[in-house]
Amino acid sequence: MNNINRNIFLAALMGISFGLFLKIYPQWSLYNAFLEANVIIGQLFINSLKMILVPLVFFSIVVGVSNLGNSKKSSTIWKYTLLYFFGTMSLAIFTALIIMNLVKPGMGITVDSWPEAKNAITSSLSILEFLKQFILGLFVNPFQSLSSGNILPLIIFSILIGASFNGGGTKIQAGKKVFESLYEVIMRIVNWIMMFAPIGIFSLLVTMVESQSSELFSQLSIFIITVIGIMLIHGLLIIPTLLFIITKISPLSLWSNGRPAFISAFATSSSAATLPLTLSVACNTFKVPKSIANFVLPLGATINMDGTALYEAAAALFIANLVGIDLSLSQQIILFFIAMVASIGAPGIPSAGMVTMAMVLQVLGLPLEALALLLPMDRLLDTFRTTINVEGDLVGSLIVQKVTKL
Ligand code: ASP
Repeated sequence: MNNINRNIFLAALMGISFGLFLKIYPQWSLYNAFLEANVIIGQLFINSLKMILVPLVFFSIVVGVSNLGNSKKSSTIWKYTLLYFFGTMSLAIFTALIIMNLVKPGMGITVDSWPEAKNAITSSLSILEFLKQFILGLFVNPFQSLSSGNILPLIIFSILIGASFNGGGTKIQAGKKVFESLYEVIMRIVNWIMMFAPIGIFSLLVTMVESQSSELFSQLSIFIITVIGIMLIHGLLIIPTLLFIITKISPLSLWSNGRPAFISAFATSSSAATLPLTLSVACNTFKVPKSIANFVLPLGATINMDGTALYEAAAALFIANLVGIDLSLSQQIILFFIAMVASIGAPGIPSAGMVTMAMVLQVLGLPLEALALLLPMDRLLDTFRTTINVEGDLVGSLIVQKVTKL
């Protein structure tokens, strides 16, 4: 384990311990001051990651795509990347549907009313409206998306600039050099922020553990355990097996070397905020060429979300069980696709999956009031699904590297 890796691991353990300490000893004289300090430090860490995120995504995709070289090679990377993303998300949803149909958490209990629901629901979209907004939202003024941090159109614009740097005369090549050096500048800032990561992660975990209500956990424990079980099957079995079969990289090497990225995903609940660490693990530890990592990872942090996809499918079935609706096979096939669209549409930020969950419930005719039940435990489950999302991205870069033989 290198230094940053070890420090982040120790910081996570200490953060959880201090969080538990605050929970069982609230009369501690420094309780408020300590908690408040950690809220501020944790937020500072997240803010600094958010600050660097938009320039990082922009420059890394431009440089990544501009280095894809001839069009034959780049189309192979595209093809395999998308094949991997859709293939693994399908596997994740499929596993969730099978296990939820076997375990059936929530079955037998009837929830007649959702009293706290009223405030929880803000807006919901039908699937057609969602698709329309999604597609129309892909092309917007790049300066507007740069300043508003709207990642998906930014990715499209960055791909176009990067693609235009492939080939071209000396003027175009000079422009490419400027982007490459600006990318190096951004990476230096990323490294500075990363030196601060152990402290940020400590604070985030202290506040998270302290604020969790234990009564809630007991009520929904079967569902939570089932969802975590599905995530473990996907993250500890399916994805590592795929990685091993294709690249011969062992699961242990994946988990120990990828640990900084996984712990950051767990602590921040944001694949986007974790992107700097995922990039650093892929390029520095696993030696994935920058041309691949800079393309697969930012794209993956935005659209490849195995954990979110399986969660949305599982949660919809759980709610269906609670209201006593037995979803038919055709309804479950619709659920399969809608969970995929919902996870692609969810940005890599905390609780983004909850926003698109409203769409999943509506498409299936399930009560949106159920969001009130899902929201309170989202902080916990988001940590797991984000870790699975990030694992999927990292493994994607390793597999794409192998199959395209770069
Ligand atoms: N927090 C997740 C992520 O950043 C998205 C989600 O809410 O599922 O990957």
